[in-house]
Amino acid sequence: MMQVVPAFGRIGEENAFAVLARADALSAAGRDVINLGIGQPDMPTPAHIVEAGIKALRDGHHGYTPATGILPLREAVSRDIHRRHGVAVSPESVMIVPGGKVTMFMAILMFGEPGAEILYPDPGFPIYRSMIAFTGARPVPVPIREENGFAFSADETLALITPKTRLLIVNAPANPTGGVTPKAEIDTLVKGLAAHPDVAILSDEIYGTMTYDGEAHHSLLTYEEIRDRLIYLDGASKTYAMTGWRLGWSVWPTPLYEAARKLAVNAHSCVNAATQWAGIAALDESQDCVAEMVAAFDRRRRIVVAGLNDLPDISCIMPKGAFYAFPNVGGTGWRAKALASALLEEAGVAVIGGPDFGVHGEGYIRLSYANSAENILRALERMKAFLSERKPG
Ligand code: PLP
Repeated sequence: MMQVVPAFGRIGEENAFAVLARADALSAAGRDVINLGIGQPDMPTPAHIVEAGIKALRDGHHGYTPATGILPLREAVSRDIHRRHGVAVSPESVMIVPGGKVTMFMAILMFGEPGAEILYPDPGFPIYRSMIAFTGARPVPVPIREENGFAFSADETLALITPKTRLLIVNAPANPTGGVTPKAEIDTLVKGLAAHPDVAILSDEIYGTMTYDGEAHHSLLTYEEIRDRLIYLDGASKTYAMTGWRLGWSVWPTPLYEAARKLAVNAHSCVNAATQWAGIAALDESQDCVAEMVAAFDRRRRIVVAGLNDLPDISCIMPKGAFYAFPNVGGTGWRAKALASALLEEAGVAVIGGPDFGVHGEGYIRLSYANSAENILRALERMKAFLSERKPG
């Protein structure tokens, strides 16, 4: 009898992919499904980025690259970080990885083991908890609360740190809530972390370009006092509508860089070479495409939030970042996952139940507004009809 190691009994996944598969199956069977489930921009990758990828293939970039990524791309990441955050980061600390997920995978593998504790946002991106559990470490959820506008609370986070805490994961702008944490709160967190010098920090800033209403994104990279233990996670998936290209990057403190490089050599060797050249075009050429995408998301954000607040027994605060709305559905009497499932099966609207992002997600559902305004309006109409006709079963 084959025996897979017990860690695989603890690994989780992202239910968004299961919902996507179910939505696709229903569509293939002839149903009209509006997908507000999956977290990816609905726009194509900007043409100049696609052209750079094609040119790289034509120019013969077909082989392995260094495991840490090609130097011109690492330099472009350094320039991007300097332009956006005003921080000098050496290309020698930048690692190119196949997607944002890979940085969290590596960081959690580096710090997770039985007896260790890792703090992560709940509700939050499900892979944090999944990978922490996989390593045998204890996943310690940091509750993310609607009354704080879905920002994390520095005091609540700091209070959860124990002598066993090895890694703290923070994410803003946040999935699934759209929460953005104000600078004052980050200041308090960083100040408090001075008392815990052994705790490493993973800052997931993959939605860093997507904030609204003049809200600024405050990168943890700007705090010099934690740079020696900060892992910065970013990538092209969301900002440049490149989810399928698999391109991410991270900044590592010097002592961890070698470990990350070795993990890359063991796992994937390098990122697809043409994708890396496309990444240079994404970062170095005009950022107008990003501004246009964010403006489109902003318009849809207003439509979706207004529409949700118009639904019976549902309320939704205005998210300040990313492209998700996280309405409170507690008043409907539905359990969140049952509601998400009934909306898909009966109303043809794919959304994700809040508990798929952690126990503190009960009472909420996540809608991605990375879809056309027309589809969002149709989905809201269907939800309205559904909620007025169908009572919790
Ligand atoms: N981090 C967060 C918070 C995300 O929401 C996602 C994707 O949904 C990722 C990381 C992973 O991005 P990628 O597709 O680049 O691996």
